[in-house]
Amino acid sequence: NKRREYSVEGYVQGILDGNIGILSQAITLIESSKHDHQLVAQEIIEKCLPFSGKSVRIGVTGVPGAGKSTFIEAFGKHVTGHGHKLAVLAIDPSSERSKGSILGDKTRMEELAVDPKAYIRPSPSAGSLGGVARKTRESLILCEAAGFDTILIETVGVGQSETAVHSMVDFFLLIKIAGAGDELQGIKRGIMEMADAISINKADGNNIHTAQLARVQFENALHLFPESPSGWIPKVLTCSSIEKTGIDTIWDNIIEYCSHTKQNGYFNQRRSEQAKYWMYETINEQLRDRFYHLDVIKGKIPDYEKKVLNDEMSSFVAAHKLLGAYFSDVKSKE
Ligand code: GDP
Repeated sequence: NKRREYSVEGYVQGILDGNIGILSQAITLIESSKHDHQLVAQEIIEKCLPFSGKSVRIGVTGVPGAGKSTFIEAFGKHVTGHGHKLAVLAIDPSSERSKGSILGDKTRMEELAVDPKAYIRPSPSAGSLGGVARKTRESLILCEAAGFDTILIETVGVGQSETAVHSMVDFFLLIKIAGAGDELQGIKRGIMEMADAISINKADGNNIHTAQLARVQFENALHLFPESPSGWIPKVLTCSSIEKTGIDTIWDNIIEYCSHTKQNGYFNQRRSEQAKYWMYETINEQLRDRFYHLDVIKGKIPDYEKKVLNDEMSSFVAAHKLLGAYFSDVKSKE
């Protein structure tokens, strides 16, 4: 193992200096399941927190094939071209590198991957959504402390991970394509409701007209949603990530959103709500994690599960007994 180990202060100083190698190693600690790594990681996060929070956090979602990677490449180059430092993170709890998972394949982000103003970090490897999401949120804090003023968090538009991303970003962008029904795009109404903007991608070549039509349709659909507490009316835009058109409009829209919500106080209010949400999420996740990793529990679970399946024990009694075993183990260690 060639990885160098630093003291907490070493990590923190390296991060604050914008040292990407040290930032990456610290994120690896966040992602580690080893207890001593977690302890160091938590100390690093704590010390970086005062230097975080000053970025724009943007979530990007869309079904596989919608063009997220291609979009992030084009958008990312636009953003760094304007002098910003961009970190790209991902939440993909199903992540198995072999399945062409998001950001696993950097070939569509060729230019961004070598851009000195950009840092691309793939999703933490498979685990519970709560765990993967927490790690991404913690990594975000370190990236901000390292001087990245724009954070993009990508997720695949197929399920619960949108909610997780939504709960850690300021602006949520939904990438769609024209011509595919909503069922086909796997986009649930709830995801549209979370969007601060929708962009119809692949608005190029023969697609331009259908993209414009889709834009109007989505705009009409959005009108039916209740107004957001931010007072912001989500725009539906079109873009081509390949021809790099419409990308600047999306960035301008994000800037406009930030100034609008900073003025009316919603920006900070949303961040405070998110901090509260993550306090509870972290408690829930860590309690669950401890519980299921405890040897006593691991030993008992298969038997209880079988009893519940065979109607020999009610689910409540089984849960109660397992929780009892957990709490007495905790007590015996006090
Ligand atoms: P992801 O799965 O959402 O990350 O989608 P990708 O970025 O991998 O893109 C899926 C396919 O769509 C690739 O073959 C891209 O070349 C293509 N694609 C992405 N953006 C555009 C676009 O703006 N126009 C066109 N014509 N094709 C695009």
